[in-house]
Amino acid sequence: TTPPMDQARARLREVFGFDDFRGVQPQVVARVLAGQSTLAVMPTGAGKSLTYQLPATMLDGTCVVVSPLIALMHDQLRSARANGIAAATLTSADADWRETIEAFRAGELDLLYVAPERASQQGFRELLGQARIALFAIDEAHCVSEWGHDFRPDYRLLRPLMDAFPDVPRLALTATADAHTRADILAQLGIPDDGLIVAGFDRPNIRYAIRHRDNPVRQIADLMRAEQGPGIVYAPTRAKVEALAEKLAAASGRPVLPYHAGLDPAVRAGNQAAFVESEDMVIVATIAFGMGIDKPDVRFVAHAGVPKSIEAYYQETGRAGRDGDPAQAVMLWGADDFARARQRLSEVPEDRRTGERIRLDALAGLVETPGCRRAVLLRHFGEEPPDQCGNCDNCLEAPGVTDATELAQKLLSA
Ligand code: ADP
Ligand code: MG
Repeated sequence: TTPPMDQARARLREVFGFDDFRGVQPQVVARVLAGQSTLAVMPTGAGKSLTYQLPATMLDGTCVVVSPLIALMHDQLRSARANGIAAATLTSADADWRETIEAFRAGELDLLYVAPERASQQGFRELLGQARIALFAIDEAHCVSEWGHDFRPDYRLLRPLMDAFPDVPRLALTATADAHTRADILAQLGIPDDGLIVAGFDRPNIRYAIRHRDNPVRQIADLMRAEQGPGIVYAPTRAKVEALAEKLAAASGRPVLPYHAGLDPAVRAGNQAAFVESEDMVIVATIAFGMGIDKPDVRFVAHAGVPKSIEAYYQETGRAGRDGDPAQAVMLWGADDFARARQRLSEVPEDRRTGERIRLDALAGLVETPGCRRAVLLRHFGEEPPDQCGNCDNCLEAPGVTDATELAQKLLSA
């Protein structure tokens, strides 16, 4: 018989058309195939979906995938089906739920995507009991933690549901990685501590810069001149998205479209599709934009105001340069951004305030550091990077940094 990982590599080529695994994918897949519960912390774009989709095509039974957003599920469904994987979603937006339930019961599905709210429905637990489940995959697993940046109470209902199926392994996936959140996810989802796999977080091709916001239209238009490829500009409110999109179009002469939750759904979907297709478009958006969007050639991500947290900053900037080619992340900040964020903090329920404050302080530390941005970012995610990356504003612009190093070397070698 062929060893499971050899079979997995063959599947990787046949089903997904990829030559090899990337990063920690093989470690994660090996654990899943061995029936071991796992928390995989992998950066955005690292290929988390494959770590459950591939085993789902090999294991006996269905992989039940919990995902927080219907839009995300439908993207995943499309790409899974495009690879010939038997997949379905069970959401309030699906008209074909009867067929889905029949196929699930009959063992015909490799993947079944559900929203976390399902977990609280007695009928759903019964349905699971009528089918054969190979794996529980919990996407965006940081949603289970109040320490995470996106707590969803429904995720707390997953533990009792999964506990009713003690023989089914669990695979939790997230791009959020601070140590406290990881430990909390393990505890909340009942995954043993030795089931943690963390991937490297560095994105060496992204050049980070954080600048004071003097004249955002001019500053971003300058960036657009330097980077002619597709770009994403994040703005804090719908009104600012609209205004900025208009001004940037006028200032740059390039195609610029807005994206926010207040737009007509058809317009919003149209703008997103146009951006995904385009080789030179800039989309100005609220943070509603980007989750689950897989566009490899985004050349820059600009923030017109500070993001919600250091995790959010990492995720949002991580949409740049997924193809590995040089890309830029530029944040424009003002003192009033932090004043407003601290004001909002006072309105957060007390049990979550400490976590939020720590994340906000980490973001302030990143903005204020005179040292390497990448080093601050990676240390936050538990890595031990070199002191200078040579590819952020502070490393590139620090007066005399290279001179000082050269001088020190001369003195040492003299
Ligand atoms: P994540 O959920 O970690 O952000 P995705 O699962 O959406 O990432 O995958 C990001 C992209 O990487 C997808 O286009 C996917 O097809 C691609 N990908 C995943 N694994 C591989 C691989 N081993 N080789 C090449 N491309 C891959
Ligand atoms: Mg994903």
